Amino acid sequence: MKCNIPGCPGEYEDDLIVDAVEHEGRIIVFKDVPAKVCDTCGYVLISWEVEGQLVHLLESNPMPVATAPVYQFVPQQLYELVGAGRTGNGRTAK
Ligand SMILES: [Zn+2]
Repeated sequence: MKCNIPGCPGEYEDDLIVDAVEHEGRIIVFKDVPAKVCDTCGYVLISWEVEGQLVHLLESNPMPVATAPVYQFVPQQLYELVGAGRTGNGRTAK
């Protein structure tokens, strides 16, 4: 099946993905979710049937099979302000 992103020549392939969603203020991670993934741009399609099973899993709230650390992304500019005057990673602070 050809990718439906305009201009992308890729084809979808069956794969198992990790899908993370935010639900009622919590981050929930599903692993081994069957999906179609474009071999060129990486665009992901999940079927309505699988989507329904994910919603059912969320609502039935079973014991998780594992837990995962969650990291807050911090924009790079904050590091540059803290590290003013340092070089070493190819950047020069002004
Ligand atoms: Zn694509």
